[in-house]
Amino acid sequence: SVCMKTASSSNVLSVIVGKVQTVLGPMDPEQLGRTMTHEHLTMSFECCYCPPAAGADPEPENPFQMQHMHWLRQNPYSCRENLYLQQETGAVRDELLAYRKAGGGTIVENTTTGIDRDLPTLKQLAKDTGVHIIAGAGFYVDATHSEATRKMSVEKLTDVIVSEVLHGADGTDIRCGVIGEIGTSWPITDSETKVLRATAHAQAQLGCPVIIHPGRSPAAPAEILRILQEAGGDISKTVMSHLDRTIFDEAELLEFAKLGSYLEYDLFGTEMLNYPFHLEVDMPSDSQRVKALAFLVKEGFEDRLVISHDIHTKNRLAKFGGHGYSHILRNIVPKMLTRGITQQQVDKILMDNPKHWLTFK
Ligand SMILES: [Zn+2]
Repeated sequence: SVCMKTASSSNVLSVIVGKVQTVLGPMDPEQLGRTMTHEHLTMSFECCYCPPAAGADPEPENPFQMQHMHWLRQNPYSCRENLYLQQETGAVRDELLAYRKAGGGTIVENTTTGIDRDLPTLKQLAKDTGVHIIAGAGFYVDATHSEATRKMSVEKLTDVIVSEVLHGADGTDIRCGVIGEIGTSWPITDSETKVLRATAHAQAQLGCPVIIHPGRSPAAPAEILRILQEAGGDISKTVMSHLDRTIFDEAELLEFAKLGSYLEYDLFGTEMLNYPFHLEVDMPSDSQRVKALAFLVKEGFEDRLVISHDIHTKNRLAKFGGHGYSHILRNIVPKMLTRGITQQQVDKILMDNPKHWLTFK
């Protein structure tokens, strides 16, 4: 029976090689179009609720009224209601239709185990809207690992991840097309280290894309790549997320870029004064993000850049006065073009780089 399973897995794998895997099945990479490489369409971020800081304004009673929109933007994690993105599937469906109208083709939906991945909803959204959706395998940060997850060996974790890609996840036959976002904290915990090693082992078997959520320290991204590489992972097919809140120093950024992963600026649309997960961080503005992209392009990394919004709370949806999933296409691309990034380079960032990353090899 072991041989049978190996045979059927290798059959499944032979169908995906050279393709991308969406929630509706394998697809020719040429069909992806413009791609946001780090979004959420349905999830819960309850794990990361932060009470309002001492001395700060308390949570308003009816937070989704117009007069509280600024409070919500400044304190998105201090309102429980705001953390249940999975309650807004209707609004998300409308926004995906708008995303297609704005020229969007694909969304990589990074929700993994721990933050309420919902594959049937993703499949329905793909059918309803025509947007290609690629789902994520694996586990979010340690704080969301179950006791069962913590007890698993690297081998067992590898089997779970491989199966989510080859056969389907969460008891469905809907297959993930990327591993991640794999969550890590800083310092990286033992359970997270096991998951990182399992991610590398699974990637070595599958030739698939990987995407990582690093902890909030400039040292975290390089340390993660070291662990992945040591376990046989393919750094050139790995995206490092959230660089906009992680590495600020230009020299450090260049040093990290030379390690060869994809470099992701994925918090476009997020502007807040106090970042409650790491108060020492000054969350950049969108203009500063564009400046970082222009710097990395000038330094020769245009083949390594990918961008996104990482929408994970309700207030960022257009329905609640937010920027929505089309903000990059509508507002950021024109800004990039005025800051020394060419249309050809924009096309690389939005189409060619995601296509190369997402194709199974
Ligand atoms: Zn995310």
